[in-house]
Amino acid sequence: MQFLQTLQDESNDIGASIYGLASELFPINRSITGDGVRETLKILKIVCPGLAVHEVPSGTKAFDWTVPKEWNVREAFIERPDGRRIAEFLKNNLHLVGYSTPVDCLMPLAELQKYLHSLPHMPSAVPYVTSYYEERFGFCLSHEERASLTEGEYRVYIDSELKDGALAYGEAVFPGESDEEIFFSAYICHPSMANDNLSGPCIAAHVAAWVADAPRRYSYRFVFVPETIGSITYMSRNLDALKSRVIAGFNLSCLGDPGHFSYIASRYANTLADRAAKSVLKFFDANFKSFSFLCRGSDERQYNAPGVDLPLCGLTRTRFGDFPQYHTSADDMNFITPDALAGSFALIREIVESLEANRRYRVKTLCEPQLSPRGLYPSMGTRGSAWEARSIMNFMAYCDGANDLFRVSEIIGEPALKLADIAKILIDAELLEEAPANDEVIL
Ligand code: ZN
Repeated sequence: MQFLQTLQDESNDIGASIYGLASELFPINRSITGDGVRETLKILKIVCPGLAVHEVPSGTKAFDWTVPKEWNVREAFIERPDGRRIAEFLKNNLHLVGYSTPVDCLMPLAELQKYLHSLPHMPSAVPYVTSYYEERFGFCLSHEERASLTEGEYRVYIDSELKDGALAYGEAVFPGESDEEIFFSAYICHPSMANDNLSGPCIAAHVAAWVADAPRRYSYRFVFVPETIGSITYMSRNLDALKSRVIAGFNLSCLGDPGHFSYIASRYANTLADRAAKSVLKFFDANFKSFSFLCRGSDERQYNAPGVDLPLCGLTRTRFGDFPQYHTSADDMNFITPDALAGSFALIREIVESLEANRRYRVKTLCEPQLSPRGLYPSMGTRGSAWEARSIMNFMAYCDGANDLFRVSEIIGEPALKLADIAKILIDAELLEEAPANDEVIL
């Protein structure tokens, strides 16, 4: 298939570009607020055209939530009794519990232990811990380092600031022929972690760049938000527009590891987004995993809440929490690969292309058309024979005006994009036409 060949040809470059963007963003101290989010958006804007940054002041109500105080950090460390510093924030921002309050005090080891987090089952990894909604402080370090601590007085130093500020998010909109929108959401709130977090926004930015230059039947909206509070805040300001325009949405998370793809269904698994994702994944990765909404974990939660009900599903490779590196320093730039990122980009691009191509068709003849006088049999011979002819006949058998390409794809076992190619040939041969909008629809 031509489109797969094209994707393979381009995959090396796009993978390197997405990986390069993730490398650039990796060291930044991201959280749900703060300058790290702004810096991240500034860099994403280099790739994602037209990315507008919005700021929502602390204290703003967002449905049942309130935009929290803004958190920024200058420095943080623990000083051992011998004066040596450990858990230095400036060396690895995972060392500091997210949203830690400022402190500068001495304490004995037994007291210090109350503020430490480590992973006995992954002794060399530093865990990722946050405390957004309860004011406290803490440090994360490897279990090996923690085990090496000796009795004595430790200095705990955190130069952080928790004050009224703003929550920043980014949004890019690309109008198409129709006001109906395809929506993408990625989160930008985790500090130095590659798969969860950077794979999502870095792929989304590249998809946006591609969409910006592509002919568009639909409009496209990309948002880059802090997870949970960011998507809630965004929706509290845009819900009516989203509900009236979005026909399919995707939350992008954990798309950089080499594992198989996973799809997390919308609440009732019955939206156009679900149908498009499953239809494309079936041929793209035969071993993809399908999860119900009960297995949700990222912002698909917020977008599917009762009353919100956006038609959105989640896309990941190995699902968040299912890989041992999840929320640890082992989720680093060695865990994600340019190839895996390129494959995820290709998947999303094919989902977009399939949505753009998706239509209902009906045959113009009554009873089976005769193909050979129209020159379709010889041309099919060069495309791979009787098997191709059978695909064309199967396709036409379901072009009764009621089925869209995803449904025909499901019935006859051919990718929707291939059916779109066949449809073009049949329209040229005056055997097929797009079904009128008022035809009975079966989805
Ligand atoms: Zn996470």
